Amino acid sequence: MRTIPKNSDAALRARGLRLTGPRRVVLEVLRGSDAHPTAESVHRLVRRRLPRVSLGTVYRNLRLLVAEGLAAEIPGPHARFDANMDAHHHFTCVRCGRIVDVDGPLAEPHAEALRVRIAARTGLAITHHRIEFFGRCPQCRAPRARLHRPRRSP
Ligand SMILES: [Zn+2]
Ligand SMILES: [Zn+2]
Repeated sequence: MRTIPKNSDAALRARGLRLTGPRRVVLEVLRGSDAHPTAESVHRLVRRRLPRVSLGTVYRNLRLLVAEGLAAEIPGPHARFDANMDAHHHFTCVRCGRIVDVDGPLAEPHAEALRVRIAARTGLAITHHRIEFFGRCPQCRAPRARLHRPRRSP
């Protein structure tokens, strides 16, 4: 589970609407996708509206949106971004790399107990933890999966 800012969804939306320039377009593109795009994918989509915007500008604005609590970054070999700020888990397909939102009970009693035990045993001050699911998506599970070309950066 990642930390969710204590802002209401409406407050976040309102803050998003006050943005101007590339940052607003970046946020709109991100909110229009549930594919957890990479910075490169966001850049491709933003360029349809701002043809001269650079990847560096898009990347910097993604980072600012994350710092402002308007977007989340999913760490990994290629950082992916998410404008869905409701508490949720992620499922990653190990074959095609697709990331899907997964609802579920976010307060996991066993995970909480584990966290407390680890903290007590090690003296580490644990601020949060994350639960991630991995496996194969429906397309990659299908018998004809060999014909489905893996999509590494949606
Ligand atoms: Zn897949
Ligand atoms: Zn997500």
